Amino acid sequence: MIPGSFEYFAPRSVSDAIKLLAAHRDDVKILSGGQSLLPLMKMRLSKPGYIVDIGKISGLDSIVEEGNSLILGALVTQAQMEYSDLLQKRCPLLPQTATTIADVQIRNRGTIGGSVAHADPAGDIPAAIMALDAEIKVAGSSGERWIKADEFFLGLLMSVLEPDEIVTAVKVPATDGEKTAYLKAAPRSSGFAVVGVAARLALDASGTCIRAALGITGITDKAYRPRRAEETLTGKKLDTKTIEEAAAESTRNIDVIEDINGSSEYRTHLTQVYVARAIEAALQG
Ligand SMILES: Cc1cc2nc3c(=O)[nH]c(=O)nc-3n(C[C@H](O)[C@H](O)[C@H](O)COP(=O)(O)OP(=O)(O)OC[C@H]3O[C@@H](n4cnc5c(N)ncnc54)[C@H](O)[C@@H]3O)c2cc1C
Repeated sequence: MIPGSFEYFAPRSVSDAIKLLAAHRDDVKILSGGQSLLPLMKMRLSKPGYIVDIGKISGLDSIVEEGNSLILGALVTQAQMEYSDLLQKRCPLLPQTATTIADVQIRNRGTIGGSVAHADPAGDIPAAIMALDAEIKVAGSSGERWIKADEFFLGLLMSVLEPDEIVTAVKVPATDGEKTAYLKAAPRSSGFAVVGVAARLALDASGTCIRAALGITGITDKAYRPRRAEETLTGKKLDTKTIEEAAAESTRNIDVIEDINGSSEYRTHLTQVYVARAIEAALQG
């Protein structure tokens, strides 16, 4: 359980970090909270020759309001998300999600940037940021770019990030007046989602759903938006029948994995149950 040897750098700026990444691009890893990277290194599943610790770069650990958006620096921890009054008030889906992650020690170290960049198919944050239509700010040798959450994840631990790019921020909308919830089924032993569902609903004064967004994690190689389920909810009153129809649509055309936590059939059924529960939980506030 001892990692291989590596050279350690702790740059003080994003630009210095990018230079280090560019110089060692095939053999370098960014270290943020370390809660995914260090276990992989200790098991020798990851053996980078160089580590760029971004924890000493200032200005990446705050949550700020910018009009109707909230910008979270990449080093904002899951615990910060959980306890942020600003997020509780203006984007409660993030605290609702963060609080389900692992345990307090991990949430004290794990960051939003790491949770996004790691692209864990059972990660909770990816489902939430998909439902939020978040945008991910990335900086690299060729400048900065914003990437939509549903274009960011490519597959198992894979994203569109280039080797010399750093996630520097995540932008989410204020969801004032909308209804949100995050629910997950997870074994006690790991806490990782067998399935996790983020629900975000906007209703008009008559109770008709005018916009629905769902993010699902844990059942395939990356978090996804079940678009047909969202369409099933939109323009309707969210009664039991409509919710059940949407739940049934949520796994359509999805190649559901099977592993020690359950067969593909079991996970498909569980996902439909959790989609319905997450919608109901959001409606109940
Ligand atoms: C026992 C245990 C239980 C866990 N349970 C859960 C759970 O229930 N739900 C859940 O979602 N997660 C869980 N996690 C993972 C945890 O949330 C991690 O904190 C998170 O996945 C990664 O964040 P980090 O800051 O620790 O990233 P790190 O471990 O530092 O990095 C992870 C990866 O992302 C890259 N990276 C990190 N930051 C950046 C950046 N800013 N830009 C580009 N690349 C970057 C690193 O190079 C590395 O490849 C668990 C972890 C453990 C150890």
